[in-house]
Amino acid sequence: MRTDVFPIDNNGIADQKPDPMFESLVKNAIDFLKKSVNELEKDPKYSVIHFFVAIELFLKARLLAEHWTLILTDINKVKSKELTVLQKFKEGDVHTVGLEKAIDRLRNVCELHIPSKAEVYFNKVKKHRNKLVHFFHPEYHEDPPPGTYHEIVPEQWSAWYYLHKLLIDEWETHFGDYADEINELDSMIMSNKKYLAAKFEEIRPDIEDEKKRGVEYKVCSWCGFESARCQDIHDLLYSRTCRVCFHQDNKLHIECPECRNEILVEDQGIGECSCGFSSDIDYLISTLGGYYDPKEEEGLAYCAECEYSSDPSVICLNDEKGIYLCLNCLTIHYNAGKCGFCDTYVAGMDLGPSYSYGCILCDGAAGWDDS
Ligand SMILES: [Zn+2]
Ligand SMILES: [Zn+2]
Ligand SMILES: [Zn+2]
Ligand SMILES: [Zn+2]
Repeated sequence: MRTDVFPIDNNGIADQKPDPMFESLVKNAIDFLKKSVNELEKDPKYSVIHFFVAIELFLKARLLAEHWTLILTDINKVKSKELTVLQKFKEGDVHTVGLEKAIDRLRNVCELHIPSKAEVYFNKVKKHRNKLVHFFHPEYHEDPPPGTYHEIVPEQWSAWYYLHKLLIDEWETHFGDYADEINELDSMIMSNKKYLAAKFEEIRPDIEDEKKRGVEYKVCSWCGFESARCQDIHDLLYSRTCRVCFHQDNKLHIECPECRNEILVEDQGIGECSCGFSSDIDYLISTLGGYYDPKEEEGLAYCAECEYSSDPSVICLNDEKGIYLCLNCLTIHYNAGKCGFCDTYVAGMDLGPSYSYGCILCDGAAGWDDS
């Protein structure tokens, strides 16, 4: 899809203030986001597609702010005899990075912190968008059935939460000029809470019932309803899952190898002990990697949620009940298996159609996903 094409001003690249390319990318991103918010009720299908375009455009804009070549998929493939790379770029005749590459470059070239949860929610929107673009998505009929918003709204909401935080807090020097517009969009998106309130009312009797039977519920840190169900899934984990917005609030607790105190780990394996010891994902994998699934010789699986693909990051907490945990994003998965096409051991995705459509590491026989 060439939705990423943007008008380029010929005199913009050398003088940086203000960079018209950056400006047009950001304006384009804001337009797509506005469209997406306005379409949610009338046309949820396009709302998802346009929302994803907006995410990609914002991330590309941040890459562009670093250097324009960073948004090219492969600089070596751009060259031609007649035109320079820059000329082709200005004409929009280049292939630009998708979500995965954009995040990878923001992390590894620009050394920016993108939380793994942000990646999880961006990926969820991407998966919806892929299903809609490439084949029929069962949830989006002409007339969306009641309840359609229950899934889209929290996902868009969560993805936007992280994007908004990046744009306004972390990348303020770059996006500060657009703060008013971005914050206006923020309140539009937050007003979708009404769909979640309706869902909360719907499941409230059931929650009350469970509470009487001793199940503990807490206020969800995400949507604010008292719908976060506390679960004792494993002695390594403090875990809550919200029944309204599906937000999982999982905290891993490990013992500090230096002072034996408890360390709480929330994201990317990072946990700090008061004694000065800090853990990272490699430390967790080396200490908890023993939680192998005995049925699988590979032991650790790749995570379909955060798509942390440098190494497999999912351990098996309980092979009888089929409970898996990603040490990078702390998502709990209830299934794991091998990709029908490339044989990779993956947790958290429906592997039924994997021969045709692939897994997080391959494109499958159909090779349909080009982003
Ligand atoms: Zn919630
Ligand atoms: Zn310690
Ligand atoms: Zn993960
Ligand atoms: Zn595969």
